[in-house]
Amino acid sequence: MKQRYRVCVLGGGPAGLAAAVSAANEGAQVLIIEREAKLGGILKQCIHDGFGLIRFGQRLTGPEYAEREIKEMLGSKVDYITSSFVTNVKRISDGGFELEIQSANGMMKVQSDTLVIACGCREKTSRQVFIHGDRPAGIYSAGTAQYFVNIMGYMPTKRCVILGSGDIGMIMARRLTLEGAEVEGVYEIKDTPAGLARNVAQCLDDFDIPLHLSTTVTRVIGDKRVEAIEVAKVDKNFCPIENTKRIIPCDSLILSVGLLPENEIAQKLDIEIDFATKGAYVDQCFMTNVPGVFSCGNALHVNDLADYVSESGELAGKYAANFRPSQRDIVKIEYDSKDFLYVVPQYYDVTQGGELSLYFRSKTDCKDRKVYLDFDDDTVLDKKYKRLLPSEMEAVKVKPKKKVTSATLRMGDFK
Ligand SMILES: Cc1cc2nc3c(=O)[nH]c(=O)nc-3n(C[C@H](O)[C@H](O)[C@H](O)COP(=O)(O)OP(=O)(O)OC[C@H]3O[C@@H](n4cnc5c(N)ncnc54)[C@H](O)[C@@H]3O)c2cc1C
Repeated sequence: MKQRYRVCVLGGGPAGLAAAVSAANEGAQVLIIEREAKLGGILKQCIHDGFGLIRFGQRLTGPEYAEREIKEMLGSKVDYITSSFVTNVKRISDGGFELEIQSANGMMKVQSDTLVIACGCREKTSRQVFIHGDRPAGIYSAGTAQYFVNIMGYMPTKRCVILGSGDIGMIMARRLTLEGAEVEGVYEIKDTPAGLARNVAQCLDDFDIPLHLSTTVTRVIGDKRVEAIEVAKVDKNFCPIENTKRIIPCDSLILSVGLLPENEIAQKLDIEIDFATKGAYVDQCFMTNVPGVFSCGNALHVNDLADYVSESGELAGKYAANFRPSQRDIVKIEYDSKDFLYVVPQYYDVTQGGELSLYFRSKTDCKDRKVYLDFDDDTVLDKKYKRLLPSEMEAVKVKPKKKVTSATLRMGDFK
């Protein structure tokens, strides 16, 4: 291992692996730093299929998808260290960065010209959704339950309730049912599912697991272990409706209430965070407001598919390898927050130019809409959507025809 690299990639999940390979393909010396003992990120525990349709044209399991990426990385000239946690990063006088790493062999320091933040995301916990009642054993995040079942081989429950209809929760509803547990139901406070429509069909409907919309968990009951859960319907302000309360005997509550990009390292570098995504603001090169620092994958925004995670990693790695400090001429991609939840990248750097891989989510479930992207008075995107859902991320590629001064993403009716 060297002490100075062209590109240091923080995180060895699909985003980090793709970033490292594409940076190495540009001739850069690259180091991946991964805190877990094995590379592959969260895909290691996602043993169901459905990954890789866009990237590989095949339905792969999470571990199969990760294995392909790891194989490609091993064939490139990339250094990597595992069981190594990046605890701090600071800018040094020559314009590069110094990383402090807690590794199995103790503390170490590495320097790099550029950084790619690919630290993934973490799950929201029960404390972040304010459930009343006791805190006995038996409350798990869906990812923890997934880790227990798929990696450790332990069954965390015999009869459970799932709060939140995020993808991991629905996937775990199916997984636990297949392993012999009874999933009493999935409870979602909103009036639409939070995860992909395909997961509602394949993970809940196909297994007769009821999905209760506009319903939430109001209380956890239990001394040492969960004994029951109280649920209630909610009104349009998400307030529980008193006379709809119901007690469900069970031994576990599984939470699938959202994911948050991991950005502690980004914050140490004063990287600006977008309130809408909880990830960094970036331009089309996936560069943050701090020159030389790039962000991709779920650390940037929570993606639906690993394929898009890899795509953003590839772009971030390529641009990190070719980065030269220069003047930036940044145009903000404006959008109406009544129509869109968020858009990534949030900026277009006119000096860099080139293609823009744009990801967005609609604010509401809407049908027969058109989405446009205007660069000044040039409409470079004009696309019909039969249906747009907040739970389904859309991805498009566009290229401005000339030097631009403004960019606006907008929605209109489909006639
Ligand atoms: C619990 C959970 C379960 C999921 N299950 C599914 C599923 O079943 N199906 C699906 O389609 N998608 C699932 N996803 C979405 C999945 O995260 C993405 O598809 C994809 O794996 C994201 O890739 P990534 O590289 O951005 O992040 P990750 O795969 O999370 O990889 C990030 C890596 O960065 C490392 N890291 C973080 N911080 C540091 C640090 N400071 N120093 C060193 N290393 C660090 C982590 O250990 C991790 O290996 C799940 C997500 C989570 C959180």
